[in-house]
Amino acid sequence: MSRARIINSDRVVAAMGKVDRAHYVLQKSGAYQDSPQQIGHAATISAPHMHAHATENLLPLLRPGARVLDVGSGSGYLCAVLHQVLQDPADPRSTESKVVGIDHIPELVEWSIGNLREDGLGEAVEQGRIKMVAGDGRKGVPEEGPFDAIHVGAAAPALPAALVEQLARPGRMFIPVGTYSQQIMQVDKDEHGRVTQIPLLDVMYVPLTDRDKQK
Ligand code: SAH
Repeated sequence: MSRARIINSDRVVAAMGKVDRAHYVLQKSGAYQDSPQQIGHAATISAPHMHAHATENLLPLLRPGARVLDVGSGSGYLCAVLHQVLQDPADPRSTESKVVGIDHIPELVEWSIGNLREDGLGEAVEQGRIKMVAGDGRKGVPEEGPFDAIHVGAAAPALPAALVEQLARPGRMFIPVGTYSQQIMQVDKDEHGRVTQIPLLDVMYVPLTDRDKQK
């Protein structure tokens, strides 16, 4: 993807290179294909190019020490990539970095924690530098915020106010919005708390919905 200029940032290439996608999929044979894959519970792990794109979009906010929220964390793959991006051996603030993943399917949360451990991130989980929680991601995780960056991995019918609220100043959210037709929105909050939105691209994501509506 780097050679094909799908990933343009060295930091993202390095971070994705440290995460083995085979630990986050059900069908290992498709682990290195640039396509989404079913992970059960009507959820999918996104295609690697989408994860790369999201990480690159949030990159200006992903300095060592940053707090990041991943809503609809599913397999845990993106939490691992975000964790790796925030680690810089030369920067002591790295240890203060925190990635919080939230998914409303408890079985997926358990599975994702196992995936992270298999991928060598057990210590980061033990130390709370990666925290996976079960709950309604539309409400965010207020007790862990504010977040420098928020990634939403499922399409919201409208921008969830609680997530905008939990953005730091400055902060950025990458979120698919829409029902039938969906667009990725880049939502920026500046130092003064002013919020702006930029549409980035048309997409097709699993809906950000109620737990019993997810088939
Ligand atoms: N980004 C993840 C998963 C994407 S699929 C990955 O690549 O592995 C979207 C995920 O959003 C699913 O796991 C689904 O369970 C979750 N989800 C949908 N609505 C949600 C809600 N209201 N709160 C939390 N998670 C939700």
